[in-house]
Amino acid sequence: MNEIIRSTQAGVTGASLDPQDWSEFRALAHRVLDETIDSIANIRARPVWQPIPDDVRASFRADVPREATDLADVYREFSESVAPYATGNVHPGFMGWVHGGGTAVGMLAEMLAAGLNANLGGRDHMPIEVERQIVEWMRRLFAFPESASGIFVTGTSMANLMAVLVARTSALGTLARQHGIGNDGALLTAYASKAAHGCISRAMDIAGLGTDALRKIDVDADHRIDVAALRAQVAIDREVGFKPFLVVASAGTVDIGAIDDLKALATLCREEGIWFHVDGAFGALAILSPELAPLLDGIELADSIALDFHKWGQVPYDAGFLLVRDGEQHRQAFAQPAAYLRREARGLAAGAVWPCDLGPDLSRGFRALKTWFTLKTFGTDRLGAVIARSCALAKYLEARVLAEPRLELLAPVNLNIVCFRYRADDAINREIVADVQESGIAAPSSTTLDGKFAIRAAIVNHRTDETDIDALVSAVLEFGTRRCGDALIETESPPLAAQ
Ligand SMILES: *Cc1c(COP(=O)(O)O)cnc(C)c1O
Repeated sequence: MNEIIRSTQAGVTGASLDPQDWSEFRALAHRVLDETIDSIANIRARPVWQPIPDDVRASFRADVPREATDLADVYREFSESVAPYATGNVHPGFMGWVHGGGTAVGMLAEMLAAGLNANLGGRDHMPIEVERQIVEWMRRLFAFPESASGIFVTGTSMANLMAVLVARTSALGTLARQHGIGNDGALLTAYASKAAHGCISRAMDIAGLGTDALRKIDVDADHRIDVAALRAQVAIDREVGFKPFLVVASAGTVDIGAIDDLKALATLCREEGIWFHVDGAFGALAILSPELAPLLDGIELADSIALDFHKWGQVPYDAGFLLVRDGEQHRQAFAQPAAYLRREARGLAAGAVWPCDLGPDLSRGFRALKTWFTLKTFGTDRLGAVIARSCALAKYLEARVLAEPRLELLAPVNLNIVCFRYRADDAINREIVADVQESGIAAPSSTTLDGKFAIRAAIVNHRTDETDIDALVSAVLEFGTRRCGDALIETESPPLAAQ
């Protein structure tokens, strides 16, 4: 008997995935940490981005690794094949889309979170209190009542979807969760500006309401929603029997960083009895800057706010967040009784509302920790100053564009986003963006404004400074001149055979 137990134990011990030689693991782990720190500290020495070589891509179509590989070898493969071909958003020259730069502090916190391997779906443990601490901080920052609730999610796409679901359940009642949206649900209509992020339309689709039920309202010259047009559309919809239930305001449009008139929208929503949601993916955290916060006036009146810590908050990916004014309505949209998730008065299964009651996820990682480390280590004043500085840098880029006859500004600079182009056609500007990206000097992205292709620079990374802006401008000018030169040669001497 003892023999059996002993041999079984030996088998079980041998099955553990812990290192067989901890000191060897420790040495490698220290090297990994050192090299990761070096790569962040010396980020300027690298190209912002570089295309993935074909052989590197092909090496990641390998067979299932049934046999073990030495950790050192796996790490070498990462160092050689993965790290050099990452997105590039750690680099100060990265200005594409709206990507945060992350910090060394956030990297460390991610490591600590992985060490704890906490599951934040529920139960009574301190990691959940860390998440509740962030909820409390957000509640205070946005002046929401004590009854508010909040939850970490992947990103604002998910937070916006969840806001649509909370608003939907609020409009139809919780029975709709059982019976489906039914005839009433088919009449629900939502509203956002034409400049709103595409994920809102997708949220309407996923929520079963359909993208047609999202009315896309015109914007004014500053890309803010036309509130009078919104009011008129709501009236028309009511008249023909639709049920307006949700207005999604943009606090920082993805194209140019425009902030809707949140106060006016709050008033309209209150009068009309409509859920008022703010997509503040990157813009909402401007609340941390005393100079910028007034732009967000009215956000404190929202029924819900979606935001990303992984953009302007500089927290490593991913760290989206949803804040809901009425925590009970939030819970009613997602909570579900299940015997295996029973709450108890004491023990590990205690602790009132669990995060799994507030969203679709049951198992959840510890996103709150890297956010807590970031907010505490730097302090919100300093993070606010970083946000304000990226807006100042956008103004600097605007000035450089305006001073350069070969460049053209395509939209007002509201926050941290500058849309401009080389004075040439769309095709050439599209090439310029790819040229600049492939050069490794900078990484702008693009958008279309009033039918014109725009080079778009969103300054989000805390490491970005004037020299990076200058490098972007020089690169655009250089590639633009080269491209236009090529174009001229082509049109000057059309191949004779073609005539
Ligand atoms: C980035 C962004 C989103 C989407 O957020 P993810 O975190 O990428 O899911 C939504 N709305 C706006 C305005 C954004 O800038």
